[in-house]
Amino acid sequence: MDVDLLEKICADMRGAPDLGKVADYIPELAKVDPRHFGISVCLADGRQLSAGDADVEFSVQSVSKVFTLSIALGRFGERLWQRVGREPSTNAFNSVHELEVHDGIPPNPFVNSGAIVTTDALLVGARPRETLAEILHFVRYAASDDDIHIDAAVARSEKLTGDKNWALAHMLRAYRNLDNACALALGTYFHQCAIRMSCEQLARFGRFLAHIHPHRSPVRAEHVRNINALMLTCGHYDGSGEFAFRVGMPAKSGVGGGILAVVPGIASVAVWSPGLNKHGNSLRGTAALEELSTACRWSVFEPHDR
Ligand code: GLN
Repeated sequence: MDVDLLEKICADMRGAPDLGKVADYIPELAKVDPRHFGISVCLADGRQLSAGDADVEFSVQSVSKVFTLSIALGRFGERLWQRVGREPSTNAFNSVHELEVHDGIPPNPFVNSGAIVTTDALLVGARPRETLAEILHFVRYAASDDDIHIDAAVARSEKLTGDKNWALAHMLRAYRNLDNACALALGTYFHQCAIRMSCEQLARFGRFLAHIHPHRSPVRAEHVRNINALMLTCGHYDGSGEFAFRVGMPAKSGVGGGILAVVPGIASVAVWSPGLNKHGNSLRGTAALEELSTACRWSVFEPHDR
């Protein structure tokens, strides 16, 4: 694994004819130039290799669900699973349908309903600004970088237009699976989604999930295993099976076009390309990870030594 491979992937992606479609249901995200492409890799020997726009910040969106799940598992452990399931879903990431079918229990913590419940759990006994400060503190520590912030304009934009999420929050409330007022839980959720990070920062965050920086891990090993299992099975929503087939790494996507992926014991990887596929996952980001995984034999399903 060397930087030449990342440069080649970068060149291949820059030449790809289909960029995908930038998320426009959050108006602020629609302003992002779809031609951006960045990739960064942290390795077990401590090296970090990057190519393209790896130092350009973007809206992490649903990648933030890994942050809140990590904190919530540490605080509540098993009790979290009374409020949210651990099964993949074949519905879209913002589906209202399955909440009705399952009496207000979201299928997993990575679809929107499950992430809203997770954030609601973190809010108990705290104000939104305190919970957001806690999330930022956690991310900055794990990424070894204090220069990580929330983009208030993105959060505001989603607050005004995120009707599907408002519907989900009200549905959760109706089923008594939201302790806080919808506006409080969602206000916090929109702000956590609006955290801006670069691929370089995100890849450094991923080191504790890859267990390549164990002495500084802010999360217990058993929870790291849980989170990686959920990323593999649910991290790309109804596109998770296809992602496992093509890439084979536990990974979490966001509609900002970022993907955080881990190769346990070997590497953490962050890619960013704003254009999405029909499941809301980065189109070229997935292709780039597929190329990397194939070249390095990094699929967790590789039958021989990696
Ligand atoms: N903030 C976005 C939403 O709630 C996050 C979705 C995503 O990144 N898949 O719709």
